[in-house]
Amino acid sequence: MKTPFVSKEQLDQITKKFPTPFHLYDEKGIRETARAVNKAFAWNPGFKEYFAVKATPNPSILKILQEEGCGVDCATDVEVMMAKKLGFKDISFTSNDTRAEEFVYAREVEAMINLDAYEHIAFLDEVAGLPETVSLRYNPGGVFSLGTDIMDHPEDSKFGMTKAQLLQGYKDLRAKGVKNFGLHAFLASNTVTNDYYPTLAGQLFELALEIREKTGVELSFINLSGGIGVDYSPADKQNDIAVIGQGVHEKFDQILVPNGLGEIKIFTELGRFMLASHGHLITKVLHLKDTYRHYVGVDASAVNLLRPAMYDAYHHITNISNPNGKVQVVDVTGSLCENNDKFAKNRELPEARVGDTLVIHDTGAHGFSMGYQYNGRLRSAEILLQEDGTAKMIRRAERPEDYFATLYGFGLDE
Ligand SMILES: *Cc1c(COP(=O)(O)O)cnc(C)c1O
Repeated sequence: MKTPFVSKEQLDQITKKFPTPFHLYDEKGIRETARAVNKAFAWNPGFKEYFAVKATPNPSILKILQEEGCGVDCATDVEVMMAKKLGFKDISFTSNDTRAEEFVYAREVEAMINLDAYEHIAFLDEVAGLPETVSLRYNPGGVFSLGTDIMDHPEDSKFGMTKAQLLQGYKDLRAKGVKNFGLHAFLASNTVTNDYYPTLAGQLFELALEIREKTGVELSFINLSGGIGVDYSPADKQNDIAVIGQGVHEKFDQILVPNGLGEIKIFTELGRFMLASHGHLITKVLHLKDTYRHYVGVDASAVNLLRPAMYDAYHHITNISNPNGKVQVVDVTGSLCENNDKFAKNRELPEARVGDTLVIHDTGAHGFSMGYQYNGRLRSAEILLQEDGTAKMIRRAERPEDYFATLYGFGLDE
């Protein structure tokens, strides 16, 4: 059973004040998760979670994480600008296919640069100069598996560099005067197992020994990146971050400590795990339609939450207005002129009636942020359910004039 973090009464109050659709975030849950992550890795004195900004790029959310001691990982200069404006001190810049200006800017604001490509070492040096600290992103190729379970296919991934490039990279960096070195890898996404991080950590810790042996470079930090998932489906088992932290700790004590590398700092760049379950997309039923299937048309669409359309991702839906209604098998759709604009297909749902409020779960990461404006459907508001139970708008909904603002003939030349 997945239950919303908000009660029907609370939500009735909130939807009276703020028109649907909107993304709703749970401050209490966000803080609890951030504290649990920090606690799980407290055994490592240098530990830091660099929240992946792209998951939920809202200043109010980022401020909460900042208060909980997190830094941020940014993929673009615009994300770095937001982080700077919010006063973040710990900013990492993990980009790929990067424009020269972005490296220049990242250097200017002293973001910690994590290079995606061997070729980027020379490029960064040429366009912006090398900083004192550089991290390299590793891609081992092949498949990433846990036991017999294939988790992902690094060989198909555009990210990172091969081991030979990595080793050469550290040698090049040291020869060019770089002083501190990091290692980064992101080998599987949305993992629903407590074994992903410990397995990854074990591989990277062994690699740290090999790097020292073959290049003489001793790493300062190892970044386990993102990839810890959430239980989108009620059938999924929730990850236990305490167990995950303990699993990484054991590998650390087995591999690094006895080899004199016990000072290495552990970094993470979790996005989904930090935020996904602390966001709901709140939407109301506009229309019912019966043809070859039963359709429940809602006022949100794929522009508000792309994951189902893009990845066929499962997002649980609760009909909070009629939780005990007779169960029906329905497709829940938005209004876009695209047949993939469906939040659920052949889903069993308590009877949805026109005007009912539906809660779409686990939309707090890669939800609003993947939005777009197809069909002239505008981005929704974001609302924060604060710890004291009151709701605050933290981003207003777009208006037509926002959509027209970049167009000649509608704004720019007026
Ligand atoms: C997307 C991303 C993350 C966050 O991934 P999650 O799956 O949300 O945890 C972390 N690091 C990098 C470099 C990313 O691109």
